[in-house]
Amino acid sequence: RPARLPVALSANPYEVVVGTGLLARAGGLLSPHLPSRRVAVVSDASVAALHLPTLRAGLEEGGFDIRAEVTVPPGEGSKRMGMLEEVLEQVLAAGADRSTTVIALGGGVVGDLAGFAAAVALRGLPFVQIPTTLLAQVDSSVGGKTGVNLRTGKNLAGAFHQPRIVLADTGTLATLPARELRAGWGEVAKHGLLQGPLWEWCEACGPAAMAGDPEALRHAVLESCRLKAGVVAADEFETAKDGGRALLNLGHTFAHALEAECGYDGTLLHGEAVAVGLGLAAALSARLGHCAQEWPGRVMEHLAAVGLPARIGDLPRSFSAEALIGRMRKDKKVRDGTMRFVLLRGAGEAFTTAEVPPEAVEALLRDEG
Ligand code: NAD
Ligand code: ZN
Repeated sequence: RPARLPVALSANPYEVVVGTGLLARAGGLLSPHLPSRRVAVVSDASVAALHLPTLRAGLEEGGFDIRAEVTVPPGEGSKRMGMLEEVLEQVLAAGADRSTTVIALGGGVVGDLAGFAAAVALRGLPFVQIPTTLLAQVDSSVGGKTGVNLRTGKNLAGAFHQPRIVLADTGTLATLPARELRAGWGEVAKHGLLQGPLWEWCEACGPAAMAGDPEALRHAVLESCRLKAGVVAADEFETAKDGGRALLNLGHTFAHALEAECGYDGTLLHGEAVAVGLGLAAALSARLGHCAQEWPGRVMEHLAAVGLPARIGDLPRSFSAEALIGRMRKDKKVRDGTMRFVLLRGAGEAFTTAEVPPEAVEALLRDEG
């Protein structure tokens, strides 16, 4: 039996269902949560080839009318305005009305793009997330952030649009390339560090999960979603002054700078950048005296054990400290030019702060780079 996790939003509470074989049972799982049985499925070509037939059969068995199947090219390049327009045209040309649900079947790219399309089509259609990457199952499918990239930067156009339900079918992870699976672990490790006991479980079972152990993957998805659901429910629109959703940015100030420096050319997957960011956040925490000196070593040791880069030196290219600092100052979450960081006192003890001397960050990047 799949596990069901509540995301306790006051206006639109929903459930994250975690288990295997969910695609084949999608009709029965979805119908109680949707206004009609009309749906439009959005996917990418790789995921559609592997998993759309199973989902289609599951929906048809539940009496669903699949109005459209929209397939975009795989990869970050599809998260753009032109593709949003294309998805909208195809969904609406197929006769979607206000009770037609948009279903995203795929990774974070498809989820963000289809979710944004659902948010704006006819001023808002019901939306369902069926994430198929580890990253999407543990992170992007929960929380309601949708959007596309602009030339000016990543995720700069978007909307909050919560799904009616999330089906995280961990069986779909069996076809995911190993590098994508490991990248998703970057976010699992982040959730572990935020939560506490989950961190110790990551250290014990991470390598088994990365070897494809289905029970370890199921546990990682379930506990990650539990952590994220709790944080999101307490701060739906990221308005909390301290803590709240901002804690989910642990490692991300560094990660975004590394990704931006690479120009999103595929050298560095988001989860890999996050892994390095976690190592740097731990190292910065230690340098500023917030945690034990041996703590960064422990964080980096785990990341290395699951095959993730843990420090800038593990990456296939070099970075200039000045360039990275310049990127961090321009991060979308930077208000009034002050860099904000999430730091750690230990596992389960993260906090947000704007009180980090830029010299400390610069020195860290020079020494680690
Ligand atoms: P992705 O969607 O590009 O998927 C990665 C690759 O895996 C793609 O080539 C895809 O075709 C393939 N794939 C997906 N599922 C597969 C499967 N089961 N078997 C085989 N291949 C499969 O990338 P991603 O890492 O899932 O998501 C990254 C995106 O998520 C970024 O754009 C990022 O900004 C976004 N994101 C959003 C949020 C949010 O809160 N909305 C949070 C984190 C990340
Ligand atoms: Zn992330």
